[in-house]
Amino acid sequence: VFREVPQAAPVAVFKLSQDFSNDQFPKKVNLGVGAYRTDEGQPWVLPVVKKVEKIIVHDDRLNHEYLPILGLPEFRSSASKIALGDDSPAIQENRVGAVQCLGGTGALKMGAEFLRRFYNGNNNTKTPVYVSAPTWENHNAVFANAGFEDIRSYKYWDAEKRGLDFAGFLGDLESCPEHSIFVLHACAHNPTGTDPTHEQWKQIADTMMRRNLFVFFDSAYQGFASGSLDKDAWAVRYFVSMDFEMLCAQSFSKNFGLYNERVGNLTIVARDADNLKRILSQMEMIVRTTWSNPPSQGARIVAITLNSSELFTEWKDNVKTMADRVLLMRAQLKAKLQALGTPGTWDHITEQIGMFSFTGLNPKQVEYMVKERHVYLMASGRINMCGLTTKNIDYVAESIHEAVTK
Ligand code: PLP
Repeated sequence: VFREVPQAAPVAVFKLSQDFSNDQFPKKVNLGVGAYRTDEGQPWVLPVVKKVEKIIVHDDRLNHEYLPILGLPEFRSSASKIALGDDSPAIQENRVGAVQCLGGTGALKMGAEFLRRFYNGNNNTKTPVYVSAPTWENHNAVFANAGFEDIRSYKYWDAEKRGLDFAGFLGDLESCPEHSIFVLHACAHNPTGTDPTHEQWKQIADTMMRRNLFVFFDSAYQGFASGSLDKDAWAVRYFVSMDFEMLCAQSFSKNFGLYNERVGNLTIVARDADNLKRILSQMEMIVRTTWSNPPSQGARIVAITLNSSELFTEWKDNVKTMADRVLLMRAQLKAKLQALGTPGTWDHITEQIGMFSFTGLNPKQVEYMVKERHVYLMASGRINMCGLTTKNIDYVAESIHEAVTK
């Protein structure tokens, strides 16, 4: 019965990691997958996470009963507070709710499923969904799989000036059909590492409000852009203050280092408390037929951390440790390329923020890096700055130099 099943293409970033694992070259470097590494090139279990895991193991009141369909209440509320701020008027007005989801991906999926069913009419598969050009490789597919038929991209990256194509972005906001859905990266845009300024965000919000566009924030790197959770939530909080009804998908994979625990949250900012109640009732229906109810371990770790002022402070320190190491690697990589006299300007490496840098290397140069130098990076030229260490940075800089000059 499965004879006709066609072979699906491998997922690029996972294939890259597999190729890296199979490579026997001693100096190989993995700059592909978006995960934090220490200066020893190792995964990092955040010290605060280790501490909370011990608390959980020793707490005899905890068990493995099902969680509620929408997830752990203390996780959902504290996660939304991190995004919207403790003093958010929308939270005080009881019009903010949340769904615990399986990672940021699950939160995007839940949001997409809900929007397709209920946004601006029932089963509205024709509403255009706009994602940035370029964007995280999964955005298109998540919305398409939820049933949206018209996925488009809005201008974002100006390759020539290696920066935001703000005029193009605004132009697309002006010319798209009213009520289109826009997926916006809350901070540390993946893959370009380039965010709008506050002034630009204000113009984006004004245009979206005037044109009745729907904003769906994707917040996968809160804390990674600036090292400060509040600063990185500026855009989300600004949109809430402008009275948008909106969704925000949050991932705790990166900022808690809980990649395989699948901890995500979908924050919903509704018109009023009654509207929120009805939205959450429908979210329950969608979750029930998708994963029925979510896993607890990761959500408990996050909830315990966020609800203790001491652990919360420790977590913020841990996030800053990661963000600071990325900044150091940015500065060192730029300095090394400049010292080597590598043609081109490399200021964008320190101007870009977050986990990734969009190097500007073209597909041929990327191929050279992978095939000849065993430095693994995405075909787009995106590198994960966390894959750089003080031990491999010379080798990587020399590889970039060779790729550019050969
Ligand atoms: N959104 C963006 C922009 C991402 O880069 C990622 C992960 O790489 C996600 C969402 C998904 O996060 P998660 O691993 O929590 O599903």
